[in-house]
Amino acid sequence: MDYIDLHIHTTASDGSNRPAEVAAMAARAGYRAIAITDHDNLNGVDEAVSVGEHLGLEVVPGIELSTDYAGTEVHILGYFVDPGAESLSDLLAVALRRREARNERITEVLRAAGIQVTMDEVRAKFPGTVLGRPHIAMVMMDKGYVSDVRQAFREYMGKGAKCYVPKINMPLDHAVDRILRAGGLPVLAHPYQYEFSEPDLRTLIRRVKDQGGVGMECVYSKYDDAQTARLLELAAEYDLLPTGGSDYHGLSKPNIQIGTTKAPYAYLEALKARK
Ligand code: AMP
Ligand code: FE
Ligand code: FE
Ligand code: ZN
Repeated sequence: MDYIDLHIHTTASDGSNRPAEVAAMAARAGYRAIAITDHDNLNGVDEAVSVGEHLGLEVVPGIELSTDYAGTEVHILGYFVDPGAESLSDLLAVALRRREARNERITEVLRAAGIQVTMDEVRAKFPGTVLGRPHIAMVMMDKGYVSDVRQAFREYMGKGAKCYVPKINMPLDHAVDRILRAGGLPVLAHPYQYEFSEPDLRTLIRRVKDQGGVGMECVYSKYDDAQTARLLELAAEYDLLPTGGSDYHGLSKPNIQIGTTKAPYAYLEALKARK
């Protein structure tokens, strides 16, 4: 059978491999298609598409948006979005400005706690990247303040930790709407990540569906077969297409590898039929 991985991060956001590298890794792992889904930007797509063409690997353009759903951060994937669409670029520009302001604030709070890290240092280490907490964490690691990224989250920047700065996200409805207006297919990412009860998860799925969402991620690196089977049932019940991906990030999530999450190519065919 042919397999796909429709959830991969690159150096365009908080992944540690370039788009060309993830395309090569996926081709080597035997995938027929992948999607590049960096946080809040499409900058990694072109490189992966062109390398994919050489390797016989289909590369789907994608994005992952962090949204606000009644106070919970819910991630929405958008496949086949038109990178030139103004509806989307406006939204991304706002998200980027908020990110930059938050990153500055995080480093201020860290410095007040004795961690000498500046955004100039973070930008110098990661040129051309949409920056976030993982990048600040890696600079903290370089400077010997923490031994790994997880420690930086646990002790400093994660929710509930002493230097946590909340993030302002776009409303879920806006994200779904703008993806649709950019010609894309909105998909609910990793539905179990939000730790909702079954009734609350159903309410979220219903909301995504009512806003025009077309799919939900049922195959995911952290979900076992029973969880995937349950999500497939829910997707069918709400008339959403199943998708699947690893959420590969490289070094910042070292337990997720390319090649282990195997969703069938038929999922992508069904998505393409809805373009
Ligand atoms: P930000 O966009 O700045 O809020 O950072 C969020 C990103 O940090 C997520 O997309 C994850 O990739 C990563 N992340 C969140 N929590 C952790 C954690 N505990 N350990 C490592 N990476 C994390
Ligand atoms: Fe991430
Ligand atoms: Fe996510
Ligand atoms: Zn992701």
